[in-house]
Amino acid sequence: MSFESFGLHPSIMDGVAALKYVKPTPIQLQSIPPVMQGRDLIGLAQTGTGKTAAFALPVLQRLLNGPRGRIRALIISPTRELAEQIGEAINALGQRTGLKSLPIYGGVSMVHQVQRLRAGVEIVVACPGRLLDHVWKGTIDLSQVEVLIIDEADRMFDMGFMPDVRNILRCLEKPRQTLLFSATMPDDIRRLARDILKDPVTVQIGHTAPAKTVSHALYPVKQHRKTSLLIELLRDIEADSVLVFTRTKHRAERVAQQLKQAGYRATSLQGNLSQPRRQAALNGFRSGLYKVLVATDVAARGIDILSISHVVNYDMPETIDGYTHRIGRTGRVEKNGDALTLVTSADAAMVQAIERVLKATLERRTLKGFDYALPVADNSGRHPSHPQRQQRRRPVYRKRIGKN
Ligand code: ADP
Ligand code: MG
Repeated sequence: MSFESFGLHPSIMDGVAALKYVKPTPIQLQSIPPVMQGRDLIGLAQTGTGKTAAFALPVLQRLLNGPRGRIRALIISPTRELAEQIGEAINALGQRTGLKSLPIYGGVSMVHQVQRLRAGVEIVVACPGRLLDHVWKGTIDLSQVEVLIIDEADRMFDMGFMPDVRNILRCLEKPRQTLLFSATMPDDIRRLARDILKDPVTVQIGHTAPAKTVSHALYPVKQHRKTSLLIELLRDIEADSVLVFTRTKHRAERVAQQLKQAGYRATSLQGNLSQPRRQAALNGFRSGLYKVLVATDVAARGIDILSISHVVNYDMPETIDGYTHRIGRTGRVEKNGDALTLVTSADAAMVQAIERVLKATLERRTLKGFDYALPVADNSGRHPSHPQRQQRRRPVYRKRIGKN
């Protein structure tokens, strides 16, 4: 099956060609026809399965005809990065259609957004909070919205946005087409779907997708040797771009700093950054200026960078879903990716749980020549002239490695 079979307008097919999409992904294949017929839809699929084009293409097709300069499609997205990415994808796919989209999220000035809204756009991609700010200020008119897309509904729920989403729904006119996308279907999302969708088509793409194209490996290590091990691992892998996950913002910042000191083009993405600096970090990573991006889960939520070759879990995620979401960032759309997880003895239960879900035993790897036994005091790398550094040279540790 090819994109030609959908009967999309030539101007939209130009956009598909510009993005070099050759074959529709499974979710696109199954969603585009019913959405083009005007049906409501629930789309269940992991990150990286091509959900954006699955809704963007039929929505562009729908908006080609009819009035311009008013908001006719509204996409709700949990984070600003995702809103930006969806906006960019729509602009690329719709580049020949003359349709205009606008991302709307907080952390930047409202004035500029108001100006763009006044100038007239057909598609808005919004985070719930800022969208409601505009609604309450009367600076946005949602009365003409005919298609609503709720993207990453489960994330939105995790982040506590459900009340906002429900408030937004109250501002919309009733007869409309509604599409809801989610990686999982917890009860609250099911309830929301029941409340707002009319006779929806459900499209579900298997749960195993990320596991197939990704090779997983575990690197057992003591907590205090993680950074040094990471530095050595990065030396070993010829990586295009590596996304490293840490549990805390502070750690993301520190690890990025240590990688920089070790000579890597690394940066961090975490909640402490201002919006321009987040954007700079992301753009730098996307363009290849940075090879390594160290991020927390929240900051990295849904980041779409097709060329991510390796995901490294510096810290084990707290849930299995967290693991599949992180790993979903690599191995997207038929590209192979590697997932490396640094594990300490404290992670044993989580490792077991993940292996159960993936129905596989993950490979345990040790890095040859790496000094796993170096004691705590000398790990920081921040005091190269620290007297304890001498310990590193003590033969007793060398001997221990020999035994491994
Ligand atoms: P999701 O929303 O499911 O996480 P995205 O829509 O962000 O996934 O798509 C993931 C990546 O795959 C993006 O870089 C996108 O450009 C790319 N992609 C989407 N559809 C196709 C396709 N049909 N062929 C090739 N690449 C695609
Ligand atoms: Mg998406």
